[in-house]
Amino acid sequence: MWYVYVIHFGSPYKHAKHYTGIAKNPKERLKEHLTGSGSRLMDAVRKTAIPVVMYVLQEFDDFHEAHLREKQLKAWKKASQYCPMCKHATRQQYLRKLTLQLEKAA
Ligand SMILES: [Zn+2]
Repeated sequence: MWYVYVIHFGSPYKHAKHYTGIAKNPKERLKEHLTGSGSRLMDAVRKTAIPVVMYVLQEFDDFHEAHLREKQLKAWKKASQYCPMCKHATRQQYLRKLTLQLEKAA
């Protein structure tokens, strides 16, 4: 099984706020990222001590399917639209706005 994952950065690193990748074992992969042996971007992020959180987005039986999905997501360049952390924050903002509007209307 192959897993497509996104790593959300607690604060942006340069212009990057996410890292999208695939792994057979996301837990092991995260460990690699957190020890600096995963990827150049994640190693740079690790050195700044920015907190990160990993989400597994999808699973595939086939490596090529997973790889294709990863490429699609990376080409889309809108990780905040598929990152659960960002989606949650957007929803919270929306609900807060709605609540304020309702309070004003009352
Ligand atoms: Zn995010």
